[in-house]
Amino acid sequence: MSYWRKHQKKELELLLQKFDDAGWTIEDPLKYYSVKCPCGDHRRWIHLTPSGNNYAKDALGWLERQPCHPSKRKEQS
Ligand SMILES: [Zn+2]
Repeated sequence: MSYWRKHQKKELELLLQKFDDAGWTIEDPLKYYSVKCPCGDHRRWIHLTPSGNNYAKDALGWLERQPCHPSKRKEQS
């Protein structure tokens, strides 16, 4: 299972798993979860309580837009 503290919101736990799948590092929250990308240039917070209905979807979209995301590397090769 995951090495980070399980997120109380199911959709955001799934979101953290997406970050993990993409090779990101997840740090347990003080106030927020912190996620760091494999290349070290990109990071963001994942809130404990979503600020809107699209929070998880927006964060996932953001992840997939990062230049170091696996889907981007595939497109470039
Ligand atoms: Zn990166």
